[in-house]
Amino acid sequence: EVRVHQLDKTFGTTSVLKGVDFTIRDGEFFTLLGPSGCGKSTTLNCIAGLEKPTGGSISVGGEVFVDVARKVFRTPEERNLGMVFQSYALWPHMTIAANLAMPLKIRKIGKDEQDRRITDALDKVGLAHLRDRYPHQLSGGQQQRVALARALVYSPSVLLLDEPLSNLDAKLREQARAWLKRLQEDLGITTVYVTHDQDEALALSDRIAVMSEGDMLQIGTPHEIYEQPAAAAVAAFVGRCN
Ligand code: ATP
Ligand code: MG
Repeated sequence: EVRVHQLDKTFGTTSVLKGVDFTIRDGEFFTLLGPSGCGKSTTLNCIAGLEKPTGGSISVGGEVFVDVARKVFRTPEERNLGMVFQSYALWPHMTIAANLAMPLKIRKIGKDEQDRRITDALDKVGLAHLRDRYPHQLSGGQQQRVALARALVYSPSVLLLDEPLSNLDAKLREQARAWLKRLQEDLGITTVYVTHDQDEALALSDRIAVMSEGDMLQIGTPHEIYEQPAAAAVAAFVGRCN
């Protein structure tokens, strides 16, 4: 369970998150949906520990990651979360296997165990045969999968995905979407997904949180969001009134 409670974030004098509040159930595919600049990545980065909130708290599986009032802050390494960024940025001078070894080395995992986990993670995304290639020798979709394998390689409790399909062209994106959904269901891993694409959110999610200007407008299943939008802004954003 991921609990985000009354999360505030200000950059200088600008308030970017204004009391963001939600709870994600174990195994759930949960999506933050909203227009550019509404605070999706900032929310995800606060969960990952890459940003420090200015108010509120976050816990995962009962473990407090950050609590501003109680002055608790765990580093990203202490949080054991897998993350894929918008630009999936593999290290170009390293083979696929070396890319996956990096997060394991940081965690001081032994060589044999590294090999086992790398093979296992690449198997999950169907690319074990490409382990000795370099990133530029892979297609965009394959690089995307490697980025996902790298996020899975140390068995994270939660997967954080920030627009992971945005670098793919429309056709590949649709394939990748179906594939990602299957993988998430197979692994049963709790997933926080960020996108500004309504169709993607409706197709992938168990529940969606619609964000606007640092606040949650509505949280619900794709059906609820689409059929009973709680506000005109939600309706407009999921394409119900134009
Ligand atoms: P997009 O869909 O374009 O990725 P987003 O919803 O992910 O948008 P955020 O990246 O969370 O938006 O940014 C929310 C707001 O916070 C924006 O106005 C952005 O300019 C601002 N912001 C983000 N990071 C910083 C920072 N490090 N310093 C100052 N302002 C920031
Ligand atoms: Mg973003």
